[in-house]
Amino acid sequence: MSYDPSNIFAKILRGEIPAHKVFEDDTALVMMDIFPQSRGHTLVIPKVASRNLLDADPATLSAVIPLVQKIAKAVMAATKADGIRIVQFNEAPAGQTVFHLHIHVIPVYEGVSMGAHGGGQADNAELATLAKAIAAQL
Ligand code: AMP
Repeated sequence: MSYDPSNIFAKILRGEIPAHKVFEDDTALVMMDIFPQSRGHTLVIPKVASRNLLDADPATLSAVIPLVQKIAKAVMAATKADGIRIVQFNEAPAGQTVFHLHIHVIPVYEGVSMGAHGGGQADNAELATLAKAIAAQL
């Protein structure tokens, strides 16, 4: 399957749609997930276009993992989470809903069950505060 540049993350990368940005450089954008599975759910999005891990350039994948590690540590510090889950879905039957490669960084809190993938929308002010708090840990 081919890459469709009309996907929502491509629109965010082009600045056509707003996002709660945590970090951005030439290679990647990091933002808050607006339908978070837990408080602090963050997405790491390489800028180079690919649908998912299956069609990604290996060089993109090797560059993004150190950033995922950095973001995971910052999310953990900012949210005081007890653990971090790293998740990545490939194609719709596996749960992928946005077809531009992204890696989920999902905080886990002891005793708190995780929300559903693609659940309710978070409060904008809370997302803005979280984005700032995570960015401050970078
Ligand atoms: P996936 O199902 O792995 O493709 O993940 C897509 C993720 O993007 C889901 O967790 C959605 O909650 C999230 N999402 C969808 N639209 C937006 C948006 N406009 N801004 C931030 N996150 C979004």
